[in-house]
Amino acid sequence: MTTTPLTTPLETALNGTHRPIPRDHATLWSGARRPIDHQAVERAACGLLVALGADLDHEGLQATPRRMADAYTELLTPEPFNLTTFPNDEGYDELVVVRDIPFQSLCMHHVLPFHGIAHIGYLPADRILGLSKLARVVELFARDLQLQERLTMQIASWLQDRLEPKGVGVVLEAEHLCMSFRGVQKPGAKTVTSALHGLVRDDARTREEFLSLTGGRMP
Ligand code: ZN
Repeated sequence: MTTTPLTTPLETALNGTHRPIPRDHATLWSGARRPIDHQAVERAACGLLVALGADLDHEGLQATPRRMADAYTELLTPEPFNLTTFPNDEGYDELVVVRDIPFQSLCMHHVLPFHGIAHIGYLPADRILGLSKLARVVELFARDLQLQERLTMQIASWLQDRLEPKGVGVVLEAEHLCMSFRGVQKPGAKTVTSALHGLVRDDARTREEFLSLTGGRMP
């Protein structure tokens, strides 16, 4: 068994952030973070299609292994971004909430998509964050072989560690194609997960406010 190196595409994507990644959070990430070998993916896609009974000489299938490799590479490669934070000079001390951030990811059990929306809130301390960065953080962790529970936890822990706010709340609502298109076949069923830290978890008023701002759809 090979050990996953700590310098991963995800870590590369995090370049420019102001703090190193704590080791314990590095280990939270999926083991599938070695660099993607595009040619090997293409060969494997050929093998998979042949094993599934496909005729690769069919005109429509000739470029399919390459397209599959392109698609998986895109879905599993996070975009680099800088985590821009600003001093909270005005002393803003109410919740900042961004709702309905769309995301898509791949479930690690079936390698089928799951997709939905994320609601993120934090209670600022010394620093505040560029609002678009909340969406970028979701994408950073969504582009991985994922579990919704773990994706939720990673987003919340990462914001707590990087921004050091007084509290963080993350709620994800998603539809899993492995559940709607196969298996129990329940299209439209939504899985809701949440991760709360600090005062968003411990202070009843803040928690309630976060709930009402995110539509109160917490489990
Ligand atoms: Zn699945």
